[in-house]
Amino acid sequence: MPERILIKVGMTVQLRKQHPCGGDLWTVTRVGADIAAVCLRCKRRVMLPREEFERRVRKVLNPEEDASLKRMER
Ligand SMILES: [Zn+2]
Repeated sequence: MPERILIKVGMTVQLRKQHPCGGDLWTVTRVGADIAAVCLRCKRRVMLPREEFERRVRKVLNPEEDASLKRMER
């Protein structure tokens, strides 16, 4: 079984496959049956089925993002 990553809104992740613009960093904007993410380089949005997205994630860059999201809400 491959390791499963819990994807959360606000996370910045590096994906295995580069976007056509050359960027490979994405910020997760929505999590449901599908995951929506914005390319940090060209700001375009993609939606992928959650399973496929999880398989493409190479690295989570800010696993502590939860805390900073809470700070932003205040
Ligand atoms: Zn892009």
